[in-house]
Amino acid sequence: MLGVLAADPAPASLTVSAPNLNYHVELFERDQRGYVGLIEVLDPLGAVSATSKGSRWKLHFQNVDAEFSAGSTTCKIAGHKLDLDAPFWLEGGRGLVPASSLFALLSRLQALPVSYQEATHRVLLGSAIPAAPVQLAPPPAQVQMQAQVPTPAPVQATPSAPAVAQPPTSQPAAAASAPHRFTVLLDASHGGADSGAALGESGAPAEKDVTLAFAHRLRTELESRGVAATILRDGDTTLAADQRAVMVNTYHADLYVALHVSTLGTSVRVVTALLPATTGAASGDDARGPFLPWNAAQQRSLVASRDAAAALVSALQAQKLGARTFAAPLSALNHAAGPALAVEIASPAGGRELTSVAFQQPIIKALATGILNARPGLEARP
Ligand SMILES: [Zn+2]
Repeated sequence: MLGVLAADPAPASLTVSAPNLNYHVELFERDQRGYVGLIEVLDPLGAVSATSKGSRWKLHFQNVDAEFSAGSTTCKIAGHKLDLDAPFWLEGGRGLVPASSLFALLSRLQALPVSYQEATHRVLLGSAIPAAPVQLAPPPAQVQMQAQVPTPAPVQATPSAPAVAQPPTSQPAAAASAPHRFTVLLDASHGGADSGAALGESGAPAEKDVTLAFAHRLRTELESRGVAATILRDGDTTLAADQRAVMVNTYHADLYVALHVSTLGTSVRVVTALLPATTGAASGDDARGPFLPWNAAQQRSLVASRDAAAALVSALQAQKLGARTFAAPLSALNHAAGPALAVEIASPAGGRELTSVAFQQPIIKALATGILNARPGLEARP
């Protein structure tokens, strides 16, 4: 699943924009952070009710159950654990959640796609996106891949890749006549101590293994179509966000694609950075140093990232695969100096389906087509 950056403390109200309504909810300050009443946010969107017992607060929204606990940063939505950016507050039966966690909460609580604009404290629901994404085409498959120990795909161009991608030093294949070789950097998100999301009940494969399996397949598919691809984490390595960012920014790929999988939703979300308000306004110490300002780094590539995202979504939709673009304040994207996307592949059937070849392959093929379609635009960049 995707992680979201924390937001700054907030002004007095938050605006929620849905296709046919627009409303404001009050922002409260608790521990110097912006909080909102979750019932107030959900009420205009659908049937909602809540009960509290001791420090526990149970919420029912449409057909989803959620459970919160006063003082806890962990909640449970439809049986899935979700971390809040700050502790849940329970005040006289009213549940308050950090505003910066609304993006994560709403995406899990309701069917509409959500984006959260930190700069303006607006929550956007389902804007410019088809309300009913097409169900992913392949039925739950019988063929299954071993996700716990990701098997390198059968046709593999690079015989023994290092556990962690190295910046390209020499490119013999490119030869003297072609100074630049188009390359894609694939990131199997999570890894090592960070297992990612639970993909079903205990015994289900971990997200970190499934993202690696997807990365292997996508690399093979791209290489079979003449596109050089490298996997950033080609082993079960723990990588801190900063380490990842340094690797991404030293590799200088034409496109960085972070892969995630989830059991929430039924479509492929192609995510571009949603940059916080401070973008371009970095000053003083923030403007110095080799890696800062991170957000300004992605700012320069955001148009190219969005164009590439649109190409991927078109290619997926052309194959009748549910897909949509999405903006989210993801650190892996915000910190990337070049065109960068995250692709989250979701199936409510969980790890079993997510690891099946029959489920993965049509998505992999469409993603490769999308990358090839995005290539001329990416190569035209200075
Ligand atoms: Zn993930």
